[in-house]
Amino acid sequence: MISEIITKKDCAKCKKCCQFESGKFDDVPRFSKRLTSQIKNKFGNRIVFTNKTDFYNVKLQKISESKYQCPFLDIEKGCQLSDSRPFDCKIFPFYLMNYKGDTVISISKDCPVIMEKKLSLLYNYFENTINHYISNLLKDGDFIVEPYHSDAIILKILNNNIINK
Ligand code: SF4
Ligand code: SF4
Repeated sequence: MISEIITKKDCAKCKKCCQFESGKFDDVPRFSKRLTSQIKNKFGNRIVFTNKTDFYNVKLQKISESKYQCPFLDIEKGCQLSDSRPFDCKIFPFYLMNYKGDTVISISKDCPVIMEKKLSLLYNYFENTINHYISNLLKDGDFIVEPYHSDAIILKILNNNIINK
């Protein structure tokens, strides 16, 4: 869905959202309990998860002195989880966040491709396209609202009813 504004070719060259600089782990994906258990069944013990109370993080692989990557990233083929990626990854570089009690949609300052787009275009894209995509994912119930952090630009405040089902 996001591929309408960011091509697969862009992401194949970049891979930034699956790799993380030391000390900058805000964007490490959160896995729901349900998804974690599905993945454990499929991948077994070679993938290590850490329980963070209401979600799980996956243990990252160290690839250089200051860089880590998600264990599901295949450098040639991309994400091994495909449609089973966590919600965070399905909507990236958009975020579903809690900002001072409001649920907001924001965009990542770390995505070089989205930062080249005009905010008005991204807003229209959200309203006309990704809004429905995200709403459908929310119906599934397998999502996590993350706390706001300063690497995000808020695009829109959502009606909190959308997530309080
Ligand atoms: S940071 Fe943006 S361009 Fe780079 S891989 Fe992620 S979504 Fe694609
Ligand atoms: S789960 Fe997939 S898309 Fe998400 S960070 Fe890992 S490799 Fe990237």
